[in-house]
Amino acid sequence: PPEQLPLDPAKKTLVILGSGWGSVSLLKKLDTEDYNVVVISPRNFFLFTPLLPSCTTGTIEHRSIMEPLRHIIRHKKRAVKYYEAEATKIDVDRRVVKINDFSDVKGNVSETEVPFDYLVVGVGAENATFGKFLMLCLFGIPGVKENACFLKEIGDAQQIRKKVMDCIETATFKDQTEEEKDRLLHMVVVGGGPTGIEFAAELQDFFEEDLRKWVPDIADRFKVTLVEALPNVLPMFSKSLIDYTEKTFKDENISVRTKTMVKKVTDKNIEVEATQADGSKVKESINYGLLVWATGNAVRGVVRDLMTQLPAQKNSRRGLAVNDYLVVDGTDGIWALGDCSATKYAPTAQVAAQQGNFLARLFNSMAKTQAVEEELRSLDARLQASADDAEKALLNAEINAKGRSLSKVKQLSPFQYSHQGSLAYIGADRAVADLNWFGGAISSATGGELTYLFWRSAYVSMVFSLRNRILVLTDWLKTKAFGRDVSRE
Ligand code: FAD
Ligand code: NAD
Repeated sequence: PPEQLPLDPAKKTLVILGSGWGSVSLLKKLDTEDYNVVVISPRNFFLFTPLLPSCTTGTIEHRSIMEPLRHIIRHKKRAVKYYEAEATKIDVDRRVVKINDFSDVKGNVSETEVPFDYLVVGVGAENATFGKFLMLCLFGIPGVKENACFLKEIGDAQQIRKKVMDCIETATFKDQTEEEKDRLLHMVVVGGGPTGIEFAAELQDFFEEDLRKWVPDIADRFKVTLVEALPNVLPMFSKSLIDYTEKTFKDENISVRTKTMVKKVTDKNIEVEATQADGSKVKESINYGLLVWATGNAVRGVVRDLMTQLPAQKNSRRGLAVNDYLVVDGTDGIWALGDCSATKYAPTAQVAAQQGNFLARLFNSMAKTQAVEEELRSLDARLQASADDAEKALLNAEINAKGRSLSKVKQLSPFQYSHQGSLAYIGADRAVADLNWFGGAISSATGGELTYLFWRSAYVSMVFSLRNRILVLTDWLKTKAFGRDVSRE
């Protein structure tokens, strides 16, 4: 890595919370020469979430989709400070962030404050565990947090991978009852959004391509069921692709239970309410060995706390309300991006990354504006002090030129999202893609094996660093050649 400029007390301090899609996209494009940048996140790496479902079965190893934050910040022009910690409170009046080191290893100090001039909140969202009705909305669906696995972080994927193998080995334990074998080998996924669909698809692939061969005793019992409250899965895709996905799942023997809402979870079963064709509701209990909960996003505590400090946020429910420049409503010098903000766009990596790029342009242009304004002030002071006409004419010309360049750097248009399309893996080497070409002028809906090849190449070219690209490609080749590893750990 190159020599870096040291922090400069004359520069403004820009604090960035989070190391996800939004914050890392900002960091990568930000000219750190202009600011003292401090990054705070409990995760000292960037996680490429689109390939996280592939880690649950070992198609891809988890380190292949992690990019160390230290690699990113060490390549910036000016040194960037990183603190591995969670922001626990953003104090708007005092302009400080309270941070806590919740990691396993603690020093003498594990709680402190970081002051900021500018703050970018990119802390993402947490897993939703609540239901649509008032009581479930307030207190969450009973038993989910205690019994279900989630799929948001690397640790979640590792836990799922271990639990799948644990269920299989326990099901084949000596003298296990038939009923218990069926329960242990029933893998239930709740939520028919892209996370639930991609995970169910990866799991069924794992069974068909590897488990069936290495653990033949389970071949007739292993079953994946996807439960969705709405009448269909993947609501953000076009009708033809929804039908294609549901048909592909049927062919792959993944059972899809739509119009089925989970109401309660215990350690061995879920209680659901299914809506019949005639509109009547039936209650049912479904046994499971593994339960993966993928019902979308909820607001993080630190964001909720910030919202309660700001009267302008009182009508916002899904996250921080922001203006067209991503400034948090009711604040000055605080921006929000990605899943923790509430905008008209879906909470996706695509949106968060474009917002991060936009904020980098905004901060780079703000720094240039401030520099030109500073120069203009000093030229104006010289003009006022000068008694020489020739010098005055020169200074006036210079002031005019600077003024023109100032209006250019100041002209930054508001954030505008450009939707490139949606892609999802649906198993058996197939993917679905709703794509926008030429800025949305042409759109196409495709599904199948060619779409899958496109899906793979799109992700490989997107995985941030060359190192990660090579790791992901190697994992795919390894899986093709030797199959997935069926060890439990
Ligand atoms: P995140 O990427 O979640 O990052 C949040 C960051 O904040 C993390 O580094 C976290 O550690 C940190 N943090 C958390 N709490 C604190 C705190 N208190 N203080 C400081 N830092 C904190 N979107 C797509 O467009 N395409 C896809 O194919 C796709 N696939 C997905 C697959 C899965 C399995 C999942 C879960 C999501 C997927 N998404 C996809 C959605 C996408 O990952 C999110 O929309 C995106 O990650 C949002 O970016 P973000 O920066 O807002 O938050
Ligand atoms: P989601 O919000 O897209 O879907 C959650 C689903 O769970 C909904 O369809 C909802 O009806 C269902 N649900 C909620 N409560 C339920 C209950 N009690 N019982 C049964 N079903 C219930 O969530 P997600 O799939 O985690 O996605 C989150 C965000 O990340 C979305 O914006 C998504 O577009 C994005 N994402 C994109 C991709 C991709 O593009 N390939 C992959 C993963 C995630």
